[in-house]
Amino acid sequence: MEIQDYRKLKKQLSFNLQEHKIIEKLQISPESFIPLLFSLKYGGDWSFKTDSLEVLAIKEKITHYDERKQTGYTLENVLLFLNPVIITMEGKVLRLEKCSTNKERKRVERPFMLVIDAEDIVKAVLNPLTMEISIKKIKGPLKMEGTAAYGVSHEMDHLRSSRADAKALWEFKYIWEE
Ligand SMILES: [Zn+2]
Repeated sequence: MEIQDYRKLKKQLSFNLQEHKIIEKLQISPESFIPLLFSLKYGGDWSFKTDSLEVLAIKEKITHYDERKQTGYTLENVLLFLNPVIITMEGKVLRLEKCSTNKERKRVERPFMLVIDAEDIVKAVLNPLTMEISIKKIKGPLKMEGTAAYGVSHEMDHLRSSRADAKALWEFKYIWEE
């Protein structure tokens, strides 16, 4: 083994060990941490379910930019919900959405705002500047708006195996503007 490979492996092992400790501290099953890990590793929103567990991870991004220094960073907030329940939904927003199970984007309707609660809620904040991922348990219910609400609604459809009434792009028509 090359020394470079050894160093990388050592760092990866230490990262996995930290992950293990965090899961222990959170007092959740290791499998329920997976959507959060996927969201951090691959980006986007994730969900999965077993007979007794439904989990979803929703990511929000916030860019902090200093106009004077012309530098900034994009903070990533990931919220992990264990056995989530939607309490209220408000508003109807038509939008095009892509899903990993489908190649083409489709027009669907999502709530603009929703209130969600869960058995456990974990918040992860990834900071690319400090290279830290801070984790804490938070209390619900939480109000989510815009992109986060669309994400929750999309993932809940997966968990409940329901599907939003969708329209394909080929159902649109082009308008020639004079
Ligand atoms: Zn999807």
